[in-house]
Parts: sequence; C-alpha cells; structure tokens
Amino acid sequence: MSKGNYNAFLHAQAQFDKVAEIIGLDEATKELLRQPIREYHFSIPVKMDDGTVKVFRGYRMQHNDARGPAKGGIRFHPLETVDTIRALSMWMTWKCAVVDIPLGGGKGGVICDPHNLSDREQEQVCRGFVRQLFTNIGPNRDVPAPDVMTSGKHMLWMMDEYEALSGARYPGVITGKPVGMGGSLGRTEATGYGVIYVLREALIQLGIDITKTTAAFQGFGNVSQYAAQLYQRLGGKIVAVSCWDNVDQTSYTFRKESGLDVDLLFAITDSFGSLDKEKAKADGIEILPGDAWLEQNVDILVPAALENQITADNVGKICDSVQVIIEGANGPTSPEADKVLNERGIFVIPDFLANAGGVTCSYFEQVQCNMNYFWEKEEVMQKLDTKMTSAFRAVYELAVNKKLTMRDAAYVISINRVAQAVKSRGWV
Ligand code: NAD
Repeated sequence: MSKGNYNAFLHAQAQFDKVAEIIGLDEATKELLRQPIREYHFSIPVKMDDGTVKVFRGYRMQHNDARGPAKGGIRFHPLETVDTIRALSMWMTWKCAVVDIPLGGGKGGVICDPHNLSDREQEQVCRGFVRQLFTNIGPNRDVPAPDVMTSGKHMLWMMDEYEALSGARYPGVITGKPVGMGGSLGRTEATGYGVIYVLREALIQLGIDITKTTAAFQGFGNVSQYAAQLYQRLGGKIVAVSCWDNVDQTSYTFRKESGLDVDLLFAITDSFGSLDKEKAKADGIEILPGDAWLEQNVDILVPAALENQITADNVGKICDSVQVIIEGANGPTSPEADKVLNERGIFVIPDFLANAGGVTCSYFEQVQCNMNYFWEKEEVMQKLDTKMTSAFRAVYELAVNKKLTMRDAAYVISINRVAQAVKSRGWV
C-alpha cells in the first residue's frame, strides 16, 4: 500500500537504527529487533458467489513478543505489501511499549479489496485467515484486531472460526469485537479519542488554547472520525478533511472555511470512510484535490489515512501557520519530510504514541474478556485518558530533558523497554 518506491519497512528500520545508535544498543539486540521474529505467508482459497474460486494472499508478522503476546491489526487492502506489514508489526511493538502495556507487536493483512467482495466472500476470507494461522495465534500467542478496511464484524467471524476449531470459547483471541459479543465499550472511539487526549496534553505544554485552533485531517475512517469528533467537542475548528473516493479512484479534500460540522460529516460518510461529494456540495462544502488538506492555513494537521503521505515532495506545501502535526495513521511522514518538519520547528507527535489508544483499549478488552466482567464506557475512557496522558508526559519530559524530537524520545523509551525484556529473558 505504498506510493512509488517507498518501502515502509526500510522507513521503520531507519527510525529504529537512528535511535539504536543514540542509546548504544548492542549488535545482537539490534539485529533481533530490526526485523520480525516470525513471519507467516499463506494462501486463502475462497469459493466466490459466482462459483469460481479465488486465491488471496495473507500474511501475519510477529515482530516481537518478549513483553507479552503479539498484538496488532489485520488489514484488507488491494495494494498491501509484505514489507508494509513487517513495518506495521514493528511499530506495534514500540506502540505497546510506549504506553507500557504487557503486549508485543504483530500485524496481518490480506491482499483483497472488500469494496468488490460480498459479505459472504469477506466472511470466507476471515475464516480462511484463521484456518491458516490457527496454531500460531491465540490469547497467549498473538491477538489480532481490526485495521484498514476491517471492522468488528470481521473480528467476530475470525473469533467464531477460532472457537469452532478449538471447541471452546476464547473471546481473548481477538479484539475490536462488537459490544455484547466480547467487545469493549469505547473501542470504536479509542484510537481517535486517544489521538486527541495526546493533542490536548501537547497543546497545554505548548501554551496553545485548543478552542482557538483550526485543523485539517487526512482520512475520515475510524481514527479520523472520532479524533475529529473529540477535537470539535473540545472547541477546535475543522477546516478540511480529505478521503478516498472509490468510484473516481482518487482522493478529494472537503473544505469549509467557517468550519465543517462533524455530525454532518458522519451523516454523509459510507462504511469505508468516503464522503459523499453531492451531499457535501449541497451543504456548501468545497471539493478540492486530495492533497489540499496538507496546504491549509491551519494550526494542526492530522494525517489519519495511510503511510507515506507527508513526503519530501509535498512537505514544502505545509503552511507556516502549522504548529503541530499529530500522526493518527501509522508511518504517514517519510524520514526525509520528518527532518524538514523538525528543522522548521513543527511539533510532530509520532504515530506510535499518538494512535496507541486503539491497542490500549484492545488491551482493556482482553482484560475484560478474561474477567468476563465488562466496564462502563466512562471507566474505559477514563482509564484510556490516564494511559495516554502519562505516556505523552513521559515522552515529552524525556524530549525536553535530552533535547530529542518527540519521535526519538518515544523510540528511546520503547526500545529500552523491549531491549530490557529480551535481555531479562536471556534471548540475547
Ligand atoms: P479506515 O479504513 O477506517 O479509514 C481510512 C480512511 O483513509 C478513509 O476515510 C479513506 O477514505 C481514507 N483514505 C484512503 N486513502 C486515502 C488517500 N489516498 N487520501 C486521503 N484519504 C485516504 O482506517 P482507520 O482504521 O481509520 O486507519 C487509518 C490509519 O490509522 C491507518 O494508518 C491505520 O493503520 C492507523 N491506525 C488505525 C487504528 C484503528 O484502531 N483503527 C489504530 C492505530 C492506527
């Protein structure tokens, strides 16, 4: 799922190598942590509705499980690549470590386009994925979750297949399940809300009043929708949102200078996070090219769609007004663009800290499943806020004290925690 020659795994390794150097990590630990510890590549044959059989390629990468079972989402995307999943599994390890939850990093994907698959065909892909991986996942091994173009319904099919093969109930095998079927209240909002809890704390440190800020978002899927919702509730003004249009096979930016109303956006968005252009125009919203979200005269940018979106080619288009970039998506900023942003003094909050709310709530879901006792939504959101706030403060404090970027400081904390775990276990 990458533009041009971009390789997300090389991106993730470059970030890791830089910080491994800063902290003087020994060669063996470095070698162990710069690649997934285990990889599974497999085929999923599916009998299609028209009677033909299609074979889909599936992958699961377990980057590291020294701190606990591997944890990470499963993507369905036509342009998914092995290296993107490797990178995402690595970022999951750092994400779980930075918020200090007892989980490792994993990621999965299937090369397919759910836009063109019926519900029955998608169910067969989900069940086939679990059949291929049955002995390699589990509540104490590796726990998948939703990601791009997968949701609670996919997780439930996967859990059902796992339980059918096991002959017992294992609700902790997967997270992001629907509420009432082992899901946690607040999981749907968790990633997006987590992004804004962190943004709120950052703005406090930077002395910026959130009610006087404006923002542009890339993407209007799970992460962006709830980030936008909470940002608006806290008083921020959303000027632009961009998303993919599957009919035109391009992206568009939806802009309103006086502020987009998030409730209206919810009402005109489909299940894939695409906004309806005609309905938007009827509400006085301008439709601009997909990249226009980046060029807005706003205080805050929230890339929350895909990796490699802020690059050496377009970083120069970011306005001088931008003070904060908070990465809702995984890997949205290329290392070259990151360097430019740092030189310009823009406060960049890295992905694996900013979007860790999803996995934190997934961890809460596992805990609740294990207890078979489910918390009220307020309790979930309060615990999430506490976790995200304390993770932000620890990273910020280190960044200030050691004069590091927020990304490097977050990496220092995560890599040290994981390195300690592999050493304590006697792996290196
Ligand atoms: P999603 O599938 O719900 O939404 C993706 C959004 O991005 C959609 O609105 C889509 O239209 C838009 N999009 C796709 N291509 C685009 C393009 N070229 N330009 C503009 N918009 C485009 O996915 P999501 O779950 O919201 O995930 C978004 C990002 O956040 C991904 O990087 C994902 O890995 C990451 N993430 C998700 C979670 C989670 O809990 N869902 C947790 C952590 C990180």
